Amino acid sequence: MQSDFLIIGGGVVGMAVAYGLARDGQRVSVLDESDDAFRASRGNAGLTWVQGKGLGMPHYAELSLDASLTWPAFAAELEARTAIDIEHECRGGVDLCFDASEAKVRQRDYAKLQLSSRHLAQHFRWEYLDRQALQTYLPGLGESIHGGTWSPHDGHCNPLHLLRALHAACRSLGLEYHASTPVLSLSPCLNGFRAATPDSEFHAERVIVAAGLGARNLAPMLGLSGTVRPVRGQMLVTERMPRVEQLPTPQLRQTATGGYLIGDTHEEVGFDKGVSLEMMSCLADRAVRIYPFLRQARLIRAWGALRIMTPDGAPLYEASSRYPGAYNLNCHSGISLAAFHANELARAIIDDRLEERWSAFSGARFNVPAHC
Ligand SMILES: Cc1cc2nc3c(=O)[nH]c(=O)nc-3n(C[C@H](O)[C@H](O)[C@H](O)COP(=O)(O)OP(=O)(O)OC[C@H]3O[C@@H](n4cnc5c(N)ncnc54)[C@H](O)[C@@H]3O)c2cc1C
Repeated sequence: MQSDFLIIGGGVVGMAVAYGLARDGQRVSVLDESDDAFRASRGNAGLTWVQGKGLGMPHYAELSLDASLTWPAFAAELEARTAIDIEHECRGGVDLCFDASEAKVRQRDYAKLQLSSRHLAQHFRWEYLDRQALQTYLPGLGESIHGGTWSPHDGHCNPLHLLRALHAACRSLGLEYHASTPVLSLSPCLNGFRAATPDSEFHAERVIVAAGLGARNLAPMLGLSGTVRPVRGQMLVTERMPRVEQLPTPQLRQTATGGYLIGDTHEEVGFDKGVSLEMMSCLADRAVRIYPFLRQARLIRAWGALRIMTPDGAPLYEASSRYPGAYNLNCHSGISLAAFHANELARAIIDDRLEERWSAFSGARFNVPAHC
C-alpha cells in the first residue's frame, strides 16, 4: 500500500510531525536508522525553553513562545492517548548569570528582543532577579551566582518519555514504523517519491526528511539544502537526590525522579559524540558553584550528543520547489517546539503551505543553491 507520507527519521521532530499527520487521518510510514545513528532526541536536556531563543530573529522568539503556550495541552493530549507520563512542567525557568557583565548583556538583549515585535512586546514576560530574589525559585543557590533572568514560559519534560509517547500515539493511529531501515537514496517517481533502503523500496505521495544530521546527505537529493552541522553537548547526571522545589535552568535541572541533569556545552568537534574529562570537570565545577550541596552527589553517567545546528541556529523548514511534495525539517529545539511541530507545522504540510506559512524559516535565507 502506498502511504500519503513517508517520513525519514524517527526522532522527536519526525515523530511529532508524524503524529500530527496521522491524527489528521493521513497514512504515514516512518523509516528510521538503527541505534548507532546520531540521535539528538535520545541525548538532550529535556527543556521546553523560550529564553534566549530568537535573539536577532524575532520570528523564532515568537515561535518558541507560542510553542510553549501550547505545550501543556499537547502533553495532556499525549498522556490521555498513551498513559505515558511525559513529566512536563511549565512553572517557569531561570537562566543564570555568573557575573555583572553577563547580567547587563542579557537584560539589554531581552529588552531589545521585546521591542522587536508587537507579539513579543505583548506576550514575552521576563524579569531580572538578583541572587537574593532567586532563592525563592532556586533554594540552595550558591553565593557566587550574580542573578538570572526568570520567565514564566520556560519548562521541562522527560524527553525519552516524550519520544516513547509519540511513538505509542502514532502506533495507535495506525502509523507504520520501520526500525533499522536506513534510507540510501530518495528520488521522485511517477506517483510521488521513492526511498531506497538496503533491502527494499518504499513509496509515498509526499516525503518529509526529518533525519537530523542525516539531512546533509538526503535533503540535497530532492533539491533541498539540509544545511546543518553537528554541535556537541556533554551531559552529566547525578544519583537520585531528595526532591527540592526548584525551577529548571539551562545549566542544570532536577528531574522528576530526583537526579540532577547537568550540562549545556556547545562544542564544534565534528561528528564526535564522545565525552572529555576537561568538559566534564568544568560542568561539575559549575554545578557545585550553582548548588554547593551537589558537592556530595555522586555522578552516575555522562554522555555526549550532537545538536543539529543551522547556520543561524533557527529552525529550517523547507519545501522543495524543484520537487513539490518533498520537505526537509531541522531544528536544535525539537523538544521545545514539539507541540508546534505536531500542530501548526503538520497542518501547514498537509495543506502544502509550509513555505508560504513559515517563510521566515525557509532555506532561502541562507542563499544556498538547491542541488539535486
Ligand atoms: C546535548 C543536547 C541537549 C539538548 N537539549 C535540548 C533541550 O533541552 N530542549 C530542546 O528543545 N532541544 C534540545 N536539544 C535539541 C534536540 O535534542 C533536537 O532538536 C532534537 O532531538 C532533534 O530531533 P530530530 O528528530 O530532528 O533529530 P534526531 O533525534 O537526531 O533524529 C533523527 C533520526 O533520523 C534518523 N536517520 C538519519 N539518517 C537516516 C537515514 N539515512 N535513513 C533513515 N533514518 C535516518 C536517525 O536514526 C534518527 O533517529 C538538545 C540537543 C543536544 C545534543
